[in-house]
Amino acid sequence: MLKQRPFLIEALTAAGLIAAPFLLPLIGFAPNTANRILVWGLFGLGFDILFGFTGLLSFGQSAFYGTGGFVAAYLLTQAGFPNVVLALIIGMIAAAAVGYLVGLIALRRTGIYFAMITVAIAEVFFFVEFNPLADWTGGENGLPGVPTPSFNLGFTTIHFTSGWSLYPFLAFCYFVGIVVALRIVRSPVGAVFRAIRDNPLRATAVGHNIHGYKLTAFVIAAAYAGFAGGLLGVLQAFMPPDAFTFDTSGQLVMQTAIGGRATLFGPLVGAAVWLSLQDFLQATLGLGAAWKLVLGIVFVLLVCFLRNGIIGGIATLYDVATGKRSASLSKEALPATSEPAREEPVAEARPAPQPDTPPLHLEDRNPAEPILQAKGLTKRYGGLVANSDIDFTVNRGELRGIIGPNGAGKSTFFKMLTCEVPPSSGTILFEGRDITGMTVTDVCQLGLTKSYQVNQLFAGLTVRENLTIAALSALRGKFRLDLFRTIQNIPGLPERVEQTLDLVNLTSRPDTPVSELAYGEKRRLEIGLALATSPSLLLLDEPLAGMSPRERVETVKLLKSISQGRTMIIIDHDMDALFELAERVTVLQEGRVLVEGTPQEIKNNTTVQEAYLGGVHGVLAA
Ligand code: ADP
Repeated sequence: MLKQRPFLIEALTAAGLIAAPFLLPLIGFAPNTANRILVWGLFGLGFDILFGFTGLLSFGQSAFYGTGGFVAAYLLTQAGFPNVVLALIIGMIAAAAVGYLVGLIALRRTGIYFAMITVAIAEVFFFVEFNPLADWTGGENGLPGVPTPSFNLGFTTIHFTSGWSLYPFLAFCYFVGIVVALRIVRSPVGAVFRAIRDNPLRATAVGHNIHGYKLTAFVIAAAYAGFAGGLLGVLQAFMPPDAFTFDTSGQLVMQTAIGGRATLFGPLVGAAVWLSLQDFLQATLGLGAAWKLVLGIVFVLLVCFLRNGIIGGIATLYDVATGKRSASLSKEALPATSEPAREEPVAEARPAPQPDTPPLHLEDRNPAEPILQAKGLTKRYGGLVANSDIDFTVNRGELRGIIGPNGAGKSTFFKMLTCEVPPSSGTILFEGRDITGMTVTDVCQLGLTKSYQVNQLFAGLTVRENLTIAALSALRGKFRLDLFRTIQNIPGLPERVEQTLDLVNLTSRPDTPVSELAYGEKRRLEIGLALATSPSLLLLDEPLAGMSPRERVETVKLLKSISQGRTMIIIDHDMDALFELAERVTVLQEGRVLVEGTPQEIKNNTTVQEAYLGGVHGVLAA
């Protein structure tokens, strides 16, 4: 519903912000509490883009909150800067610039190490603010006397002073903040952010420069933090030194978790719960410092029973009430990575569609020329030689099969071809170009990608969203800052996604979340992700793995239809299927090429029979 009315959220937010000063006093909200909620909410918008949408948990946002706040406050109190809004913007830019530099360092690591680096960096900022920079920041005294904004309209001057009088200014800032944040999360960049959160490995493999996008999210979060930090000084008429403390960063994380991550409004709702509880427990019930004990219990209960926070809980209830989701089949109920090998009704595989739009990639060059050449490819893992001196050529338009017993080195060979792992020696030429040592992202951009042996999907997204992410890399390149572009407006994107849905027989399930797909459908989506990047050479690592016999038959038909006009290399253990599909087959054994030939030649080859089946003659030929 919300997707069909793109401005509904903006309109509801505006209405809510306008109504708040009339409604909140009725339930006992002090104006200062409302103002503080808005500042935290704005601070949290950037953090939610970083944490909720991109999956990067930073405990160091206070560094940017403080930087923006102190730069703005210094300009306004010490440097005699007259314009409050301009000072806030300069503070925001300073925080974003600092965020860029910090991001360059912190994003070198992922997960817990990233979080730890952000903590450490924030501590450094706290120390620097108190000691070397105390002359500028006021040290432990902070900077008093931060002015509030006023706007000269010619005929009159509007002053925003404090309480409800300051509220419209803060509400306007929050509104601009949410409009910008909504545009960002609806942009192609926002889609890639979600892909990184769900599966960074696959986001890289389908051709996105995830480091660039992570840094973008980090800078956005720093910019929001910097602006909100400036507003804190304006709100309190004083820039407090505790803006830089770890407590500030921790409070932001907890408020976002309480309100609901990846919702944008989560931090605002979380701040409302936090601050109103604080007011109520501290002032009304007179609990003093013990209020945090109650808060801690509330937090634990919320996190245990509402994993996606208050907004996430409401959204789940809404979906269940409207029948979009059955209570037992909620996203939380299904592990995202579960791969049950259950049967599913398989749609009849259709021949490759003849779309009006240009096909994803059909070969138009001389079919006899080699598209891929590997020379002397060797991979050593310590003393173990996984691949040894492999020479391998595939011609354009060919469908090549690779077989070999377990441990023969097939997957390692694929990983080297797609540049997931570097070879110990040897070279790989793709379309005549040496790609040895390139990144998997760059190679995908050149037109070489693979589908994985173990599904690598974007588990939190729908089928269509998955394919969109893969198609975006083909249409936009590996990195593009089209932050304010509406994703639906990218020329060719919907057609490409529909075409891929059709190719992998998922047209009936476009809006189904991945977690609700049957195993066979997930396998097809896995192939679809690779296809949507428009590869000129597609590698398929055991596409039939884990399928029931019926699903195998259908998937073989599907692979045949996909192979029309494409170059593909397929590894599989199902030799009947592979012999039916492939024009030529390469047999690997103990990391070397044992023999290469047509399926018939391979079937009749006694060396293959001996090596592959331990001397059980005649089995392959049967
Ligand atoms: P296949 O796909 O044919 O089953 P693999 O390419 O997975 O074979 O493995 C070939 C050999 O290389 C195996 O002995 C495997 O244990 C080893 N190997 C694969 N990956 C690694 C790795 N990352 N580190 C160490 N050894 C590895």
